[in-house]
Amino acid sequence: MALKALDIYKILPKKNCKECGDPTCLTFAMKLAAGKGDITLCPHLDEQARNLLGASTRPPIRLVRIGVGERALAVGEETVLYRHDKTFYHPPGILFRIEDTLPEAEIAAIVRRVRTDRVTRVGMDLAVNGIAVVNRSGQPEQFARAVGIVEENADLPLVLMTADQKALSAALVHCGTYRPLIHAATKDNFREMCAIAKQHGCPLAVVARGTDDLAALAASCAKEGVADLVLDPSPQTLGEYVPAATAIRQLAITRTAPDLGYPVFLDATAFSPEDAAIVLGIVKYASVIVTSPLSPASTTAALTLRQNIYTDPQKPIQMNPGIYRIGNPGKDAPVFMTVNFSLTYFTLEGYLEASRTPCFMLLVDTEGLSVLTAVASGKLNETLVRDSIKKFNLESEVSHRKLIIPGYASPLSGRIEEVTGWKVLVGPRDAAEVGEFIEQVWKKEQAAGP
Ligand code: SF4
Repeated sequence: MALKALDIYKILPKKNCKECGDPTCLTFAMKLAAGKGDITLCPHLDEQARNLLGASTRPPIRLVRIGVGERALAVGEETVLYRHDKTFYHPPGILFRIEDTLPEAEIAAIVRRVRTDRVTRVGMDLAVNGIAVVNRSGQPEQFARAVGIVEENADLPLVLMTADQKALSAALVHCGTYRPLIHAATKDNFREMCAIAKQHGCPLAVVARGTDDLAALAASCAKEGVADLVLDPSPQTLGEYVPAATAIRQLAITRTAPDLGYPVFLDATAFSPEDAAIVLGIVKYASVIVTSPLSPASTTAALTLRQNIYTDPQKPIQMNPGIYRIGNPGKDAPVFMTVNFSLTYFTLEGYLEASRTPCFMLLVDTEGLSVLTAVASGKLNETLVRDSIKKFNLESEVSHRKLIIPGYASPLSGRIEEVTGWKVLVGPRDAAEVGEFIEQVWKKEQAAGP
């Protein structure tokens, strides 16, 4: 059973010495209770306390790293069943599947796509994570050749998918030092697979149907000395995947079945439509998802969904408050005031760029709340606008004293004028109409003078 923060606190030395990096023993205890701490950071724990805290303070799902260096993929270490309880920490890796029967040029082209293609959304670059090479040919040399081509073209996290130990050993000659995920050990071959995984220090996927068999196989592999495991529940249908993955997550995070405390693997290419499998994998607990090389549209959809699910729901994505320039605005350029919720910023920025009117954006600090929420909660108010104008020295940027506020902030227009002395123009509610607003309202204002 997991210990609660107060139970842990009772066991800690209570010196409040800060040597663990936390200001007090209680905050350290809270971190441990959330599965995010490391008991070895407290140098004052005796043997007995260490043993007592040991298993119950480890994250219920192990963090597993596939690959090495900067582009390593870290998966697992999740602590909740529902995203709204807290957050999900490590987004699932999406890996494009390559069969070893493909011609060299085709393999190289897929690898290049994974290495270079990016989707930029709300200020973040999103990308597919790696490559899964499948031993379709059944030939060890062919499999090793395909892995060699992948390695020559990029240093990406890899999954090696073969049950043939000879093929695996041949492929590991090319990538053995880079911690590829080996897929997979079964109840019939796990000793041999564990030996290879241990020899190369690789994580290992285990395949079994049913949580009991999966837990037993994972326990056997752990006993063989492989600590970094990934669980493949091998569903036959998508309808089977969801309850299987949910049961694994539930039994793991409640520590009812610690042998299931590993990230989950899903081969989405086994299902039709594959896009549906990818969606279910992302929203329902998959940590490693193998897909066909997706079209740009499907890639964008998958990466966008993944970003949404793995964004902390309690912390809106924020921009730094301040003044942002669109184009090269002069002293007479319009100033659009808005909140620092990143989605608001990027939406408005896109339409302002499309209007081809150089302008300023003044982002006020609503702690990432959207305009409507910030107005309703009182976070966006005339004082904040006045202080932001002063803090970011807006007066030195423009020669006029006119501020365009979002349409949804119109109830504040009078009070903003009163406390700032700036003339307020109420902009459109929909950012898509901002170009029209510039043409029909701002240009008339500009002609009227400062
Ligand atoms: S190092 Fe140990 S004793 Fe010191 S504050 Fe942290 S938990 Fe408390």
